[in-house]
Amino acid sequence: MKKDYYEILGVPKNATQEEIKKAYRKLALKYHPDRVPPEKKKEAEEKFKEISEAYAVLSDPEKRRQYDMYGHAGIEGQYTYEDIFKNVDFSSIFDDLGFGEDFFSSIFGDIFGRRREKRVTIPPDLELSLTISLEEAYNGTKKDILIRHQAICPDCKGTGAKKGKLKKCDVCKGRGVVGVGHFFFTMTRTCSKCNGTGLIPKEVCSKCSGKGRIIKEEKVGIKIPRGVKDGMALRIKGKGNEYERGRRGDLYVYIKILRHDVFERDGNDVFVKVKIPFYVAALGGEADVPTLNGKVRIKIPPGTQDRSVFRLKGKGFPDIHHGGYGDEYVEIEIDVPKSLNEKQRSILEEFKRAMEE
Ligand SMILES: [Zn+2]
Ligand SMILES: [Zn+2]
Repeated sequence: MKKDYYEILGVPKNATQEEIKKAYRKLALKYHPDRVPPEKKKEAEEKFKEISEAYAVLSDPEKRRQYDMYGHAGIEGQYTYEDIFKNVDFSSIFDDLGFGEDFFSSIFGDIFGRRREKRVTIPPDLELSLTISLEEAYNGTKKDILIRHQAICPDCKGTGAKKGKLKKCDVCKGRGVVGVGHFFFTMTRTCSKCNGTGLIPKEVCSKCSGKGRIIKEEKVGIKIPRGVKDGMALRIKGKGNEYERGRRGDLYVYIKILRHDVFERDGNDVFVKVKIPFYVAALGGEADVPTLNGKVRIKIPPGTQDRSVFRLKGKGFPDIHHGGYGDEYVEIEIDVPKSLNEKQRSILEEFKRAMEE
């Protein structure tokens, strides 16, 4: 059950704005995270957020009215968590207390974190493609590649503002929206200067020229497993973009395998074509066949026909998931000489006569 805002601030239901402000200031001093021992810091920050939320609602007459009538449901139904803090002038209170702007952003970094991050949106994952040879896919390999990934600017922490210092947007006065007049009524649209955050840089960050992000280069070693297939994505954890401070997404490396002059791959199987002389096909013999693992010699039985296929078990690709190997299929092409010398011709003529007898 969510605590009552009045209870949180310790003020009566009919408290004046002055009393509410005073109570909040008092509690803000009490829960200043720099004033509590380190082990209490987290707790103090939570408490700080709680009192700030209560103050944000009760210091705004319209939100307070909603809260008085409908309780937390009245606020939650009307405002997002971010909206609750919109238009609330915390900085005047904190400047007063001598906390300054750094304090404002360090404590409210969390509350306004989502607002500030809107300034820079970085996709967590990074994708790139890597072309390898068929031999590399067969043997597996390691490659060092240079990646360029996006990172939150360390100087401004993604705000685009020098030292992360923000000020109220002068165009929308911190409301995040601006009114567009139309005679009797006013329409609002998101403020384009602050993108609806209500905050703009006090001074533009020079490291990222206000973009909030920088490009970093990094060498990443990629292990390409044996048997990798064309189009497969390798996921390298934690090597993507830095989308939040200190947090990186993953890198996806899409494998592209070059076509090979000799071998054609289908799944884990590999196909080759081998030419043998017509007399070897007729008489039987041997032939050298290329495999991804070097040449092997195979037996050609007598009477081998053109386009016969021999299977070499286990001479295909290693299976990337289950171990074991695919097969190699050797398709025979019978080679007929384009020209014959005198002796060859007369022997063949004799052979022809023998066949026709
Ligand atoms: Zn920057
Ligand atoms: Zn604005």
